Amino acid sequence: MSRFSEHHFKNEKALIRVDFNIPMDKQTLEITDDTRMRASIPTIQKVLKDGGSVILMSHLGRPKNGPEDKFSLKHLVKHLGELLPGTTVFFANDCIGEQASMTASMLKPGEVLLLENLRFHPEEEKGDEAFAKKLAALGNVYVNDAFGTAHRRHASTAVIAEFFSKENKMFGLLMEKEVASAEKVLHHSASPFVAIIGGAKVSDKILIIENLLEKATDIIIGGGMAYTFMKAQGGKIGSSLCEDDRLDTALEILQKAAEKNVCIHLPADSIIADKFSADANISGSLSNDIPDGWMGLDIGTMACESFSRVIRNAKTILWNGPMGVFEMQPFQHGTKTIAEAVAAASGEGAFSLIGGGDSVAAVNKFGFENKVSYISTGGGALLEYFEGKVLPGIEAINN
Ligand code: AMP
Repeated sequence: MSRFSEHHFKNEKALIRVDFNIPMDKQTLEITDDTRMRASIPTIQKVLKDGGSVILMSHLGRPKNGPEDKFSLKHLVKHLGELLPGTTVFFANDCIGEQASMTASMLKPGEVLLLENLRFHPEEEKGDEAFAKKLAALGNVYVNDAFGTAHRRHASTAVIAEFFSKENKMFGLLMEKEVASAEKVLHHSASPFVAIIGGAKVSDKILIIENLLEKATDIIIGGGMAYTFMKAQGGKIGSSLCEDDRLDTALEILQKAAEKNVCIHLPADSIIADKFSADANISGSLSNDIPDGWMGLDIGTMACESFSRVIRNAKTILWNGPMGVFEMQPFQHGTKTIAEAVAAASGEGAFSLIGGGDSVAAVNKFGFENKVSYISTGGGALLEYFEGKVLPGIEAINN
């Protein structure tokens, strides 16, 4: 592997896998959030500044049977031009084939070519070698800057790397940061390492909790998943979210944590409601003594205090998943309090990594995005990394 920042791209054609899978308005096809596009700009600019040219490839949405206008990357060309002022941006209406090869071969230093949606070809998701080889032929250096798809072994995210020598394949600046932050937390964490896991379901988070039992000193469990743990220990949880087929798993996790000296923190109390609605009647309760007909929708005051204390003492923090139904105003206090504690600990020198869709949305919603150490752009990829899996997109560059 070569280091992107040390590579000089003069007269080279960098084939960059970016993540332009951005949200767009279904009717007008206007971009509603360009965060992922903006995140790739420093990588593109570095190549252009060095005197190289850039060929961008990405997927967008989930096209099922070939090309579909609503998933076309042509809708992104104008905005890409605005993000790269003074740069000519070409578009190829197929990511392989004659037009793509011709435009790529005629590309001059300082110019950019955006290829049409990779997933218009089913070979992309199948990781087809012949398709990857055709893509590879478009450039002479391969740069992977799409952490969001690093957990997929697709043609453009992993297989393509086989066609480049060690010196000519590398992570882009965004991917470098993502990988460095994730590695810092999982492999070089300063103690105490507090993992905060929330969200709806235990079943989605079992693997990550199990892997973290090997690494963390404390695991805070909040959100809907906490009630499966409460019930497993004999608590009364009313009509709170519960996965009855995971009660044994919850007990096993508690048992393993005790053996490994990892402290599991569950919310002592909850904000409860008589229906799943912002206009429900609201009360407070111990989390293991919730009356029938009521459900826990946020962590309570005592839990907020004790969780905050643990977080404020941390040197390394990983946060995935909200503490309650933070989308509804009456149940956002717990998640906001945790965001505050994470921001405060980060201000005092802890390294904090926030990842996974909803916790990122929460940190942004409450305005703490500049007060934490790193917010990951890769939801599923980050989760799989913390589950201890080898990500094909990372492995392909490292090997
Ligand atoms: P996840 O995608 O698993 O991280 O779950 C996030 C979702 O969990 C959010 O939409 C929250 O509203 C929801 N959630 C968090 N706490 C609760 C709870 N106590 N009861 C029901 N849903 C919850």
